[in-house]
Amino acid sequence: MTKKYTIAMLEGDGIGPEIMREAVKVLNVIQTRSGVKFDLKYAPFGGKAYFDTGLAFPDETKKVCDEADAILKGPIGLSHTESEKIPVEQRPERGALLPLRRRYNTYANFRPVYLPAELAHFSPLKPHVVEGGIDFMMIRELVGGLYFGAKERGVTPEGLRYVKETLEYDEAQIRRILVVAFDVARKRKKVLHNVHKSNVLMSSVLWNEIVEEVAADYPDVAVKHMIVDAAATALCLNPRQFDVMVMENMFGDILSDLGGGLLGSLGLMPSACIGAGKSYYEPSHGSAPDIAGKGIANPYSMIGSVAMMLEMSFGLEAESRAVWDAMRRVFGHGFTTADLRAPGDNQRVISTSEFGDHVTAALTA
Ligand code: NAD
Repeated sequence: MTKKYTIAMLEGDGIGPEIMREAVKVLNVIQTRSGVKFDLKYAPFGGKAYFDTGLAFPDETKKVCDEADAILKGPIGLSHTESEKIPVEQRPERGALLPLRRRYNTYANFRPVYLPAELAHFSPLKPHVVEGGIDFMMIRELVGGLYFGAKERGVTPEGLRYVKETLEYDEAQIRRILVVAFDVARKRKKVLHNVHKSNVLMSSVLWNEIVEEVAADYPDVAVKHMIVDAAATALCLNPRQFDVMVMENMFGDILSDLGGGLLGSLGLMPSACIGAGKSYYEPSHGSAPDIAGKGIANPYSMIGSVAMMLEMSFGLEAESRAVWDAMRRVFGHGFTTADLRAPGDNQRVISTSEFGDHVTAALTA
């Protein structure tokens, strides 16, 4: 019997619909190649959803997501001016993204920072720093910490406006993300970089205690501790020392964008957000309002998210590898997208849809 998977398709804002179209081309080819069937259910989500329906994460979308086997999500978010037109609680991150993460408890965020040796020239780092390519996995805790803690805004008795945000983790939340990270490290080079700020934050002191406890079950994995600010420098000076990195929510948000910078563009950053019962897949970047509608966005991040979904939600490892290989071959053939173009290089710049066409051609070849 044909295996069928239902995918909730949340196109999002800005470049979301453009890059999602290319992901759909790839899903169609995978259907033909593998014999599985994908049932794509589109639903509104994010800023446009708010303007169309009054809610950034409408009930109808929740139902589609609840019933899906996996969720493929484009980036959401608006320009600063457009965001200001929406009540704070309904702005895309607060009204849609965080509730999506909370609803499915997608605590484990995988962000591969990957540039094979032959594409190392895309990196803005000096050639000797990236010689041999970049290949590490950032694992970010996604449903705890400062982003999810209690928030308060008010006025002090002296009449000053103030805010209070809470950074909270319990040991179970910390342990489960560390177990994910140790498991990944065990399957790779058996080296785990633990990124923290225990010199200042109590949350990092507890985090590091749990690291020691979990490490006892993984004697084959070497743990290296790094303070988050030093890690930012180390990523720029010697990214090749890393294989698997684990960190709490906000550190991961910031350092993974630095990862995109190491590769040459956020357009090379897909991600997987894994929960116990349901997972969703999205580019690590935002909706890029500065280039939306121009046909120049790099859809690699969205197609890479599809590759991660094929492997992690549907167990289609061979198909997932084929998608990665196809994208690598497109670049290998001398094509590039506008975000990766460097002055003086002689690569041919292709549009968002041309990139998708080349990937599907490589997959069918
Ligand atoms: P951004 O990630 O959208 O863009 C940063 C820079 O990277 C821009 O110059 C953009 O053009 C470029 N870029 C990003 N993706 C690209 C791609 N695929 N191809 C080529 N270039 C690409 O960050 P921003 O401008 O700070 O945020 C825009 C909006 O996105 C904001 O509303 C923000 O809140 C939201 N956001 C959403 C998510 C999400 O949906 N998970 C994540 C981050 C930011």
